[in-house]
Parts: sequence; structure tokens; C-alpha cells
Amino acid sequence: MNLSIIIPLLNEEESLQELQNWILTVMKANNYSYEIIFIDDGSTDKSWSIIEQLSIENSNVKGIRFLKNFGKSQALHAGFAKAQGDVIITMDADLQDSPNEIPELYDMIINQKFDLVSGWKKKRYDSVFAKNIPSKLFNWAARKTSGVQLNDFNCGLKAYKNIVVKNIEVSGEMHRYIPVLAKNAGFGKIGEKVVLHQPRKYGETKFGMDRFINGFLDLITIWFLSRFGKRPMHLFGALGSLMFIIGFLSAGFIGIMKLYKLYHDLPYGLVTNNPWFYISLTTMIIGTQLFLAGFLGEIILRTKNNEERYKISETTK
Ligand code: UDP
Ligand code: MG
Repeated sequence: MNLSIIIPLLNEEESLQELQNWILTVMKANNYSYEIIFIDDGSTDKSWSIIEQLSIENSNVKGIRFLKNFGKSQALHAGFAKAQGDVIITMDADLQDSPNEIPELYDMIINQKFDLVSGWKKKRYDSVFAKNIPSKLFNWAARKTSGVQLNDFNCGLKAYKNIVVKNIEVSGEMHRYIPVLAKNAGFGKIGEKVVLHQPRKYGETKFGMDRFINGFLDLITIWFLSRFGKRPMHLFGALGSLMFIIGFLSAGFIGIMKLYKLYHDLPYGLVTNNPWFYISLTTMIIGTQLFLAGFLGEIILRTKNNEERYKISETTK
């Protein structure tokens, strides 16, 4: 199969039929073998019954329905797990992304051997203050923290080699950082293509200003993953050990002073009922706990890596 087109959606009943027709025109014109996977991320409108209808009419159309709204990242992840095409395309359901871009994206993956190509909405049709300015700031910060040089991290239209989507785990709000996850997983050939972006035809945006707050918080995770990608838990181990050593040294020092006090008369209150002694003990305990948290994380990470190795052998069959 040439293409899997993955479309996450939340309450987009007005757009689905039109989007599907448009995609089919492009598929036919280029003679692609394809599947379209709609992921209904907990819609409360008629979206799901429309998807069911579309899949009855066309056996290349598949649907996944979530019990509730889990977010775009989880929706994409479910689509990635199901996708069978050589090239995976993700696009929004609201007709803002154009299916006409698909052939060129496909070509960049297959012939130019990109691992991932990300759309760049150079000309956006959203209000300047709600989106464009925060979005510029956001993309700048994302480039700085991740080292991935994209102009537009947020574009829903992207193309991937199949093996890439099978080897990344998209959770939380991470859908904006899939290129970073891909780079961390070892897929370094990442491209960008200017794509046509259109105003929303029906309904309204599902993301508010809170996306930027969540997006910026995720930057910390991304920075952390890029920086300590192989051994993120070593940071906790190191921090824990350091706290333990500081606590141990200061508690030891105070303890020795206390013993010393038994034999010599020291000037007032340095050692009796010294709160610093208890603070030192607490520091040691917290240090131990941090260290153990890091250790636990390390164990979990190792089991997870095994699972990932399994996935690779599955997809290269
Ligand atoms: N979406 C989703 N789950 C959500 C929010 C949005 O699947 O929790 C879908 C939405 O239906 C659309 C795509 O993600 O297909 C992009 O959302 P939207 O158009 O609201 O974002 P914007 O274009 O304003 O960035
Ligand atoms: Mg949109």
C-alpha cells in the first residue's frame, strides 16, 4: 500500500464528506493504493456516524473511535499503530490542509528519501494576536530547545516513512514535537515543505490560548529528552546522590560536633537542638528517594527499550 492518510478529528461533522471527496480525487489522479484512517477523538456531534457511513461506501476508509476526548496526540498515536502504507500522511479534518499537497510529500519521502517532511504554513489565515505572534515565539523556542530547525512545528500536515511512526510514542501534547521525537529515535533526515493553508470553513478551532501554555510546558520535556535522551533518569540519580552526599557530610559534621560537645564546653547553642542536623537528615532522605526514583525510571526505560527493539523487527519484516 502506498499511502495511509491519518485524520484526527473532534466534532468536524460539516467537513468530513467534503474532505473525503477531495482526498479521493487526488488518490485517483495519482493512482495510489491507499487507506484513510479517521480517528474520532470523542466527538459529540454526528462525526462518528458519518465516518461509519463513509467506511461502508469505501472499503479503503477506516475509523477508530475514542470513548472520550483524549487529545490529538493520542488520536495520532492510534492511527500510527494501525497504518499500513509505505508513506504516512497526517492532516487536520477541517479542510485547512490541502490534499493537493499529498503527491509532493509522497515524492519527498519515497524519492528524496526523507524520514519526515513537515508542512510549513507560511501564510496563515488565523487572527494575528491569537495565533501568529505566540506561534512565532513558540516555534523559535522549540528550535532553540530541540535543535530541530523547523519554521512551523504546529502544522498538522506531515508525511512520514512508515518505520518512523512505528517507532515513536506520541503522548500528552507531543503531537507538535513529532519531528523531535523522530530525531531522538534516530530518524534524522527531516524536511520542510511550504504548504497551502486555508481559513477554517466550518466550525471553530478546538485549541485555545491554553495550547501555548501546554505547548511551552512540553518544551521542557522536549529539552530534557533531547539533552538526556539516552539516560534521562541519570539526572535524578546524580541529583539524588549529590543531595545525599551534602546531607551526609553536614549531618556528620554536626554529629561530630555533638560528640565533641560531650567532652568540651563549646560556646552557646551551636550543637544542642540544632535544626540544621534535622535538615541534613531530611536532605539525605530526599536524596535517597530521588536516587531510587531515577533507578526505578531506569528499569522502566530498559523494559521499554526492549519493547521498542521488538517493534523494529516487526516493521522491517
Ligand atoms: N482535534 C482532535 N482532538 C482534539 C482537538 C482537535 O482530534 O482534542 C483535531 C481537530 O478536529 C482538527 C485538528 O485536530 O482536525 C486540528 O485542530 P484545529 O483545527 O482545532 O486546530 P487549529 O487549526 O486551530 O490549529
Ligand atoms: Mg484547523
